[in-house]
Parts: sequence; structure tokens; C-alpha cells
Amino acid sequence: MATAQVQGPRSAAENRVMPSQRGFLRSLRWIALTTLTIVALAFCSLFVTSDPLTRDQQQLVTEAIALVERSGFGREATVLRRVVFFRSTDNWWNTHVGHQNAYAATNYPFAVVTLYPAFFRFSSDATERAAILLHEVQHVLGSDERLALQRVWLDKQRLGWTAGRYSHTRVWKNTRESTIAAIPGLFQCGLDGQTDCVE
Ligand SMILES: [Zn+2]
Repeated sequence: MATAQVQGPRSAAENRVMPSQRGFLRSLRWIALTTLTIVALAFCSLFVTSDPLTRDQQQLVTEAIALVERSGFGREATVLRRVVFFRSTDNWWNTHVGHQNAYAATNYPFAVVTLYPAFFRFSSDATERAAILLHEVQHVLGSDERLALQRVWLDKQRLGWTAGRYSHTRVWKNTRESTIAAIPGLFQCGLDGQTDCVE
């Protein structure tokens, strides 16, 4: 009798709490599943609206990633090799927002990197392709345009991408122009105050 009197109110309290807890957990699960489904659908939509790299293009990208790794950017090389999905044509997102860079574009946070024809046509060698990939992987890791430009300009010599060898190339000139516009302070050294501070 005594036991029944003690358990009675406790069971009633449990009965009041548990359905609401169950409901809360069910809502959390529903939100998580819905979010996952939306993310998965968005990711798939980027794929079905773009083309993969050709075998030759993939080979050039593999060589450039190897150069990124040999230059001491192990983490970036691993991300490029294991995380990034490379595409060769614009997906719906890129088409919708447009892109400033004619060489490549990254869809953050999906790690989808689109390499445009200019990436293959105008880069003079694997070093320049490595420089472009080093830029894009900064976006994959969450950097904005300014930070991505800064990182590549500061580290370009580690890649072997130097003014002495590349100042005449289209990729060098385009990158220099963009970097000057984004971070003018990197080019205000020397007696004239207009020399690259990273040379
Ligand atoms: Zn960029």
C-alpha cells in the first residue's frame, strides 16, 4: 500500500514529461534529417548541372596537386586530393551568381571546384596550375577572396612561382592585378614605394 502511494505521483510526473521529451527529440531528428536532405540535394544539383574533368584535364590537375605537396603544402594537397570535387563546366550556382575569376571557382562549403577552360589554356605550366589550385583550396577551407590572394602571393616563391620566371605570363599578370587591388600594401616597398614586398 505504502509503495503504491509513493510510486503513484512519480509515475504521473513521468507520464507528463516523457511525451514532451519524446516530441522534442522527434523534432530534433526531423530538423537534422531535413537539413541533411537539403544539403545532399544541393550537392547533387551542383553535380548534375556540371561536367566532370576529362582524363587529360584530370592528369594535369594531379600533377599540379603533386607540386603543391612537394612545395610543402601538405594539408592543402590532402584537401585537394581527398575532399575537393573538380568539375569542368559551370553548375547552376556559378551560372546564377557569376564569377570574377576566369580560371576557377569554388562553391563553399561544398568543396566543388570548377576549373574553366582558361585554367588549362592560359596556365604556362604545372607551377601556375598549382598556384591557382592553392588559391582555390583557400576558399574550400573558408577564406575569402582577399585572404586567398594574400596567401598565394606570400607563398608564391615556395611554389617556385617567381617574377623572374613568370612575370610575363597571363596568370601572373592577372593574379598580380587582383592582389594589388585587394591588398595594395603588399606592393608599396622599395625606394619608389611601388615594389612587390614579397620579392
Ligand atoms: Zn578566389
